[in-house]
Amino acid sequence: MLIGVLGGGQLGRMLALAGYPFGLRFRVLDPVLDAATDGIAERVRGAYEDPAALDAFAAGLDCVTYEFENVPVATVRALAARGVRVFPGERALALTQDRVLEKQFLSELGVATADFAPIDAADDVARAVASVALPAVLKSRRLGYDGRGQRVVRTAADLDGAWDALGGVPLVAEAFVPFKRELALLAARAVDGTIACYPLIETHHRDGILRLALAPAPHASAELQSAAEAIATRVLQALDYVGVLAVELFERDGRLLVNELAPRVHNSGHGTIEGAETSQFAQHLRAGLGLPLGSTSAVGYSAMLNLIGEAPPLDALLRADPHAHVHRYGKQPRPARKLGHVTLIASDRAALAARVEAFAAAIGIALPT
Ligand code: AMP
Repeated sequence: MLIGVLGGGQLGRMLALAGYPFGLRFRVLDPVLDAATDGIAERVRGAYEDPAALDAFAAGLDCVTYEFENVPVATVRALAARGVRVFPGERALALTQDRVLEKQFLSELGVATADFAPIDAADDVARAVASVALPAVLKSRRLGYDGRGQRVVRTAADLDGAWDALGGVPLVAEAFVPFKRELALLAARAVDGTIACYPLIETHHRDGILRLALAPAPHASAELQSAAEAIATRVLQALDYVGVLAVELFERDGRLLVNELAPRVHNSGHGTIEGAETSQFAQHLRAGLGLPLGSTSAVGYSAMLNLIGEAPPLDALLRADPHAHVHRYGKQPRPARKLGHVTLIASDRAALAARVEAFAAAIGIALPT
C-alpha cells in the first residue's frame, strides 16, 4: 500500500518509519527545499493547492493523511475529488485550524475550555478581554503553533499595541488558566469506530514550546484518566474521526479543561515509540487503514526530551546514556526549532527522574522547572 502524507516534517518522517515494518510505502507532498522525510520517502515537491502537484501526488495512493493541521482544507477536497480518501476528515481539519471554531465546537459538546471571546478588529480587543477578565492570553485565531502568535496580557496597559504586535489578524482572547499542570491525551479511533486511549501524559512547556513529556503522567488517578477519555471519546465520535487525535489539557482543581486539539500525531506522544506497546505513529496508520488498533499500554515509565534550537552531536547524545533512544530529524539548527528528541525509560519513577537529570546535565540542556 502506498500512503500519502501532506507535510514532510518530523511527524511525517516518524509516520513513515513506523509504517515500513508493516510493508507500507510513503509519498510526501511538501513545497520546501529540504524535508525531514527526504531520503526515506518519495516526495512530490509542490504547493498544497497546485493542481499539477496534487495530480502527481495522488496518482496511485491508497489514502492520505497529514502531519500538520494547517493543510488547506481545499487540498483535502481536491484529493477527495481525485478519489483519494484523507484521514482525519475535513471537518476535524477545518475546526482545529481555527481556535474560535474549535472552542465553540467543544462548548457545544459540553467540554470545558478557558473562557474565550473572538476578536475581529483592533476595536474588539478591550471588549473581548473584559469579557474573559484579566489576566488573559491573546492568540491568533489561525496558524499559531508552539506559542507563536500569542501574548499574555496582565494589565489594561498590556492591551496597547497588542493588536498590531500580533500582526493585525483575527484573534481569540482566552482567560489565563492558573493550571496545576498540563496534560495530553492521545486517542485513536479506527474506521469501524473502535477507540483506544493512551495513558495521560504530563507535558512541560517553556516559551510555549514542549520541552519534556512524562508518561504515564505521575499521580494521575483512574478518575482523571476516565475524565480525559470521556472528553476524547465525545470529540472523536462527534467528528466521526479516524486516526490519532491529541487533546491538550490543563488540570486545575482536579478538573480538566481542553486547551487545544491536534488532528494528528503529536509531539507529546513521541515517547510512545519506545514507551508504549504501540507507537502513536503505528496506531495512526492502523486506525486510518482499517486495521485493528494496537495495545496502548505503557512500557515502563518514559520521559521524552525535545532537542530544540541546537542539538548536541550524535556521539554526545549516545555517550550520555547507553539506554537513551535518540531521534534526530535531519533538520538544520535554528532557534526554537525542534531538531530531535530523546526518550529515556525506567522501571520506576525515581529511577526515571535520576536518569533524566543525569542525561540533561551530561548534554547541557536545562530541564523545565
Ligand atoms: P497553545 O499554542 O495554545 O498550545 O499554547 C502554548 C502554551 O501556552 C500552552 O501549552 C500553555 O503552557 C500556555 N497557555 C496557552 N493558553 C493558555 C491559557 N489560556 N492559560 C494559561 N496558559 C496558557
